[in-house]
Amino acid sequence: MSRGEPAPAAAGSGVHRELLARHRAVLPDWLALYYAEPLEITHGEGRHVWDAEGRRYLDFFGGILTTMTAHALPEVTKAVAEQAGRILHTSTVYLDRPMVELAERIAALSGIPDARVFFTTSGTEANDTALLLATAHRRSNQVLAMRNSYHGRSFSAVGITGNRSWSPTSLSPLQTLYVHGGVRTRGPFAHLDDEAFTAACVADLADMLGQARADVAALIAEPVQGVGGFTSPPDGLYAAFREVLQQHGILWISDEVQTGWGRTGDHFWGWQAHAAAGPPDLLTFAKGIGNGMSVGGVVARAEVMNCLDANSLSTFGGSPVTMAAANANLAHLLDHDLQGNARRVGGLLLERLRAAAAGLGVVREVRGRGLMIGIELVAPGTDTPSPEAASLVLEAAREGGLLLGKGGGHATAGVLRIAPPLTLTVAEAEEGAAVLEHALRTAESALA
Ligand code: PLP
Repeated sequence: MSRGEPAPAAAGSGVHRELLARHRAVLPDWLALYYAEPLEITHGEGRHVWDAEGRRYLDFFGGILTTMTAHALPEVTKAVAEQAGRILHTSTVYLDRPMVELAERIAALSGIPDARVFFTTSGTEANDTALLLATAHRRSNQVLAMRNSYHGRSFSAVGITGNRSWSPTSLSPLQTLYVHGGVRTRGPFAHLDDEAFTAACVADLADMLGQARADVAALIAEPVQGVGGFTSPPDGLYAAFREVLQQHGILWISDEVQTGWGRTGDHFWGWQAHAAAGPPDLLTFAKGIGNGMSVGGVVARAEVMNCLDANSLSTFGGSPVTMAAANANLAHLLDHDLQGNARRVGGLLLERLRAAAAGLGVVREVRGRGLMIGIELVAPGTDTPSPEAASLVLEAAREGGLLLGKGGGHATAGVLRIAPPLTLTVAEAEEGAAVLEHALRTAESALA
């Protein structure tokens, strides 16, 4: 089923069918639902969720990378309930203890010197704010973004998003120049080794800068492209970019909405795979930090954060209940070394999935870092991306009690995305891999 195309009639219960009909009658067509029979998830615990008909699923998508630690994590639920019992919302015009505490922790973790933190309610708003800051600081509305990237759904975020299947407008308040590098295994430089690939991308960046008609404010990039299909450049690419950017005073915004908080296993932030570059000038986050509560934000050096010379606030950004959830979630994540768990269990899962995919013509590549694993699917025996194969695997996995994500851009359409909560156990990794192996074989036979 492609985006916007209505799902076939559900064969589920009458209640489920009625809800689906009401959904279609009142919500936008482009708010796509997964599955021919879309699911109504009613509750979750640990790495599992249940649908309205009582079926249990292993959640390999973690909401949408939003359930960072676990569903119904007792510490988070308790923190939310206690804060909700006291007061739901005050106002950014008053002091807010949970907000200050979370900002202190994030500033210290960010690696950015003299850091300031501004809280938003989403990743989109975080990136919007980062773009506002960078363009105001540099007094330029020209930015660099990566091909195949995704940065959110506001007017400025879709305007710079390189993945055009998620960018419904050609209009933008920003002038954007797109550079190569976010996708290692496709595109004109895919045949090069890592060193030559990096050199080619740096030359492309320099070429773009040569074409710029005004100063460029910033480069915005996801260290591992999320919606684009969990693709990463060679380690060190952004360090090499940074050298060029710094010659021109251009800021580096690292969009860590999917890659933050240890998900990639080896590093707490995605930018650390490019550590020779030092920290970015601005870092944006959202998704997993609230474990499902709407918390996003921007970290920037004080000089950049404080460059705005007008008032600005977010009414709900940093509201006490969301801050309570994020503080409890972050404490759990750090106390239990979930980054280490992502590295260990993610490494095993990657190996297991590579073995499962060996010899299957429908799988082009199994790739990933930590618990951020992508399986790129093609029409068997070709190099043509296959969203159809991805849908077949998704349906077969669901039959087997496993939820996955889909993704991809133009060149990478047809990628399965695996990003479970970082508490995933080895037994659960094995359980999910077995279902996936069967689902991949089902798709292979169906397309043969
Ligand atoms: N940036 C990246 C890398 C994302 O993956 C997303 C969402 O998927 C966003 C920004 C936008 O975040 P949100 O959907 O919370 O607005």
